Amino acid sequence: MVTTHEEIVKDVAKLKRRPNLESWARLRESWSWDDVTRELDLPGGMYNLGHECIDRHANGANANKPAMIWQSAGGALETYTYAQMKAESNRFANALRQLGVQKADRVFFFSDRIPELYFGVFGTLKAGAIVAPLFSAFGPEPVKERIQRAEGSVIVTTPKLLPKVNAIRKELKSLKHVIVIAHREGGKVADGDLDFKQLTEAASTDFDVVKTGPEDWSVMHFTSGTTGLPKGAAHVHNAVIGHYATGRYVLDLHPDDIYWCTADPGWVTGTSYGMFAPFSNGVTSVIDEGGFGAKRWYEVIQRHKVQVWYTAPTAIRLLMKAGAKLPREHDLSSLRYVMSVGEPLNPEGVVWGLEAFDLPIHDNWWQTETGAIMIANYPSMPIRPGSMGRPFPGIDAAIIDDQGREIAEPMVEGVLAVKPGWPSMFRTYWNDKERYDSRFQNGWYITGDKAKRDGDGYFWFVGRDDDVINTAGHLVSPFEVESCLIEHEAVAEAGVIGKPDPTAMEIVKAFVTLNDGYSPSEELRRQLIRHCRERLGAGTAPREIEIIERLPKTRSGKIMRRLLKARELGLPEGDTSTLEED
Ligand code: ATP
Ligand code: MG
Repeated sequence: MVTTHEEIVKDVAKLKRRPNLESWARLRESWSWDDVTRELDLPGGMYNLGHECIDRHANGANANKPAMIWQSAGGALETYTYAQMKAESNRFANALRQLGVQKADRVFFFSDRIPELYFGVFGTLKAGAIVAPLFSAFGPEPVKERIQRAEGSVIVTTPKLLPKVNAIRKELKSLKHVIVIAHREGGKVADGDLDFKQLTEAASTDFDVVKTGPEDWSVMHFTSGTTGLPKGAAHVHNAVIGHYATGRYVLDLHPDDIYWCTADPGWVTGTSYGMFAPFSNGVTSVIDEGGFGAKRWYEVIQRHKVQVWYTAPTAIRLLMKAGAKLPREHDLSSLRYVMSVGEPLNPEGVVWGLEAFDLPIHDNWWQTETGAIMIANYPSMPIRPGSMGRPFPGIDAAIIDDQGREIAEPMVEGVLAVKPGWPSMFRTYWNDKERYDSRFQNGWYITGDKAKRDGDGYFWFVGRDDDVINTAGHLVSPFEVESCLIEHEAVAEAGVIGKPDPTAMEIVKAFVTLNDGYSPSEELRRQLIRHCRERLGAGTAPREIEIIERLPKTRSGKIMRRLLKARELGLPEGDTSTLEED
């Protein structure tokens, strides 16, 4: 990795709070999944995400502690304690039971971030059914496609989103019940549909949690669709061990923390880290119904005195675009620790945190399939900007070659792989076992990402397997080129692809968007090419640069390089169900 940024060393004694993980090496050496499992409450061998996240706190000293501080899009607040969360989720679990929902039935959630979504998810888990989240901005087709693939029997939605369900309803043979959360928006629920409020108000606040075992299904998440058709990764209740452990040691959650995860529960970060990790650790979560806005976000941190903040590179790049002055105009002194996931975090983003918050941003890596964080930077560990960090203490990660053999030499590029057996690992792609099986080779889970590992065990992201560029016989990491481009003051974001070329096989082509105050010109384009040549060398620097208005991204904020490429080459765009709209 070519980087102009030096290692960020930490003085652990000076951190605002003594971290749960004081020494990565020591915890790794002594790590035992059994030990962490003993910190959970598994009555009679029951593993249940709903019990573990909600009931065990509601039944103990945390009963009256706020689990969730919800802020509506308009700014109104509602607070729910663990005891209230237990009562509300129990009502929903009873309602499902009355409807005849059985263990492992698929219950879809298609809603904005409102409290009922959270009650519903935990109620479903306690009822032993499978939670299947859908992102609220999906149109009818992606909703239909996913429900069909999973043979969902229930969908929970809102009046605003209901027309999208109605448009496809006739084609959904498996769908038995449509539950509408109508009371917040007002309006009547149509005949044949069920009213969330009526259903739950009539139900008891007591519920005997279904005795799910560690290998019973819990959540099914569709992947982001960055590289192609989204896959339905199915998880089991055992995953809670991973959520709890990474919540404790990566998120560094302490009992009185106020925590904010900005991800939407339509994506795995919004459930694993917007629900399961914070609640299983018994902390208070802030949930903001509103969307991204630099000012709004700083106000959320200031208003709720957020201490631990988990967000994404796309948001960080937008905050960077809005400048480092804005955060300085807010009181963000409560912040202790900032993390990012979802895409590679450019070194520029890591150090920008120092400028804006006096805190570096900690990158970590995982996927829908892994269910929980696998590789991370930790509060007590030095950061090498541009690196995803080191494997979680209970995780073995490696770089392997095409034959599935581990590559021992440092900084050699290969496929990022993880040793199977971690608690939150997905157990199948729903109705696609063949694809699932194809992800395992030689005793490794193949992640589909390319990376390298340095001599000290830090992992460096190179690119998606399909995105790595082969130009004139050498491999170029799109991430490295993108990071170099955004170091230039004019560039806000960059997406880099390999463009087929008769002599070089591929050439490096970059698409960039500009920061406010800069406009496209031939001179700027040439300047950017020069900037990259100086830093990366002529072989790696982009041969072509195109300045565009915006980059195609998934709704979870990831740059879709496959679309940049398809558009460049005039090829079909493939599945665009998760494409962010204009
Ligand atoms: P699909 O599998 O449908 O193409 P996706 O891979 O984007 O979509 P997710 O499971 O949401 O779906 O994302 C996981 C992927 O995101 C990782 O495999 C990796 O490519 C990327 N990613 C996540 N975190 C990081 C990170 N810290 N650094 C680099 N890449 C990351
Ligand atoms: Mg993927």
